Order: sequence, then C-alpha cells, then structure tokens
Amino acid sequence: MADEYIRIRDLDVEYNGYKALNNINLDIHKNSITVVLGPNGAGKTTLLKSILGLVKPSRGSISVFGYDPLKDGDQIRQVVGYLPQLEKYSYEISIPAIEVVLMSLMISRRIPRIPSRDDVDKALKCLDKAGVREVAYKPFNELSGGERQRVLLARALVREPKYLFLDEPFTGVDVRGQREIIRCLLDILKSEGVGMFIIAHDISSFAQYIDNIILLNKKVIASGKPTEALTPQNLRATYGIEIPVITYEDVCYPLIGDRHA
Ligand code: ADP
Repeated sequence: MADEYIRIRDLDVEYNGYKALNNINLDIHKNSITVVLGPNGAGKTTLLKSILGLVKPSRGSISVFGYDPLKDGDQIRQVVGYLPQLEKYSYEISIPAIEVVLMSLMISRRIPRIPSRDDVDKALKCLDKAGVREVAYKPFNELSGGERQRVLLARALVREPKYLFLDEPFTGVDVRGQREIIRCLLDILKSEGVGMFIIAHDISSFAQYIDNIILLNKKVIASGKPTEALTPQNLRATYGIEIPVITYEDVCYPLIGDRHA
C-alpha cells in the first residue's frame, strides 16, 4: 500500500438534514489498533461506513491508503476486511459455517461460483486462525454468539486483508470468546501486520493492546494514546455522564460497562 494512513479531513455526514458527523479530522495509522468509543447515535458506524465508501459525506475528504472511498470502492474492498455487527447477520442462515466464509471469496467470482480445493483449504485455515476450525461443517445458526462472531472474523480474513474494520466484535461474546478473538487479532497484527479499527462499547478485555483511542460524539472529543484520551473530562464530554477511569500497570480502564448515555 502506497499510503500508510487513513486520512479524514473536514468530514460532515448528514442524513436528511440531520448532522450525524461534524467536522471530523483524523489520521489513522496502518500497523496499529485504533478503537472508537462513543454512546449510541454518536456516529461510530457512520464514520466506519464513510471510510468504506458506503455513505456519502456532505463535506470533506477521506483517503484510505491513498484511495478515495467514493471512487475506488473496489480497490479499498480488495485491501480491507469488514466485520459488521453480529446482529446484522440473519440467524436463519442454516448453511455450514465454512460456506459463510467461502461466500466472501465467491462474491467476486464469475458464475458458476464453485469453490476450488484451494478455496476450501484457505477457508479452513482462516477458521483455524479464528479458533473455530471444529465448527466448519456445523450450521451457522446453531453456533453460539462467540462462535458465529469468530466465523465472521474468518470470513473477513479469507481475502487476506491488509487492514480490518470491526464493528462491535465483542457484543454477545462471553469473556473467554472475547479473549480468543483478541488472541486471533493480535496474532494477525503481529504476523501479517494487519492493523485494525474497532468500534467498541467496553474495552476492558483488551485495553492493554490499544494504540489509539478516538472518543466520538458527532465530533471528535479526543484522539490519541489511551492514557491521553481517556480522561474523566473527555469521557464526560463524550457520554454526558461521569465515568470513572482506573489505571492499572499504566493501562487505562474506563468503567463504561454498558452505559450508553
Ligand atoms: P452509532 O454507531 O454511534 O450508534 P450511527 O452512526 O449508527 O451511530 O448513527 C448516528 C446517527 O445517525 C443516529 O442518530 C442514527 O439514527 C442516524 N442514522 C444512521 N444511519 C441513518 C440512515 N441511514 N438514515 C437516517 N439516519 C441515520
């Protein structure tokens, strides 16, 4: 990738006159973990969709590793993986988990879309990386929330992305499942340099691995290292309520829990 950054300048996004994002300026580095925190309705998903070219800004510009999301959507989708919120996936999908992963490869192929032996091997390898190789042939809708989330992670990995966007990857996943997802993410960050942009509500299970925090509530309240961004003042400005912060071994843990203000 020529350009190592996602650059956002003077970005506004409006929905029928309602300003969901106001004057956003951000630089997001490639080989790092960036987390966006903010209450419901803060514009987190809108920000992510703008970066992916799924929403058209009313003002400003975005460059994703040198590409313009509105013009070069295909190129961007070649280099990034996207894990949407779990609830956006129908629980009625009764196809085997491996098919859910293979669908991501087949989508860019010509008809008839028949996976090769190599495709199947690749899908199995990604399920293995995500720690769910053993559920490959189980129906997707019979898996637990954590297993489904990791199958979707394998689906995001199968196209060998250089960067991953994860929208609330831990929602509905128990602590053990969260740890397994984090282990998988750290492995690919270390071995393949895949950076990630994570929308989250509660960061307590992975706070020590975060390089950058963006506090968002329609505008950027703070952006920077967790120790700099996660102050009680910034959190109050973001959520509109008092949020205590505990610092343990130089890692900040804001006690956001499930408070969405
Ligand atoms: P978050 O992800 O932080 O919860 P969203 O980006 O989903 O926030 O939404 C930000 C605001 O924009 C919300 O008030 C939401 O209702 C509104 N919004 C989001 N998508 C649309 C849409 N497609 N049409 C109209 N309003 C929308």
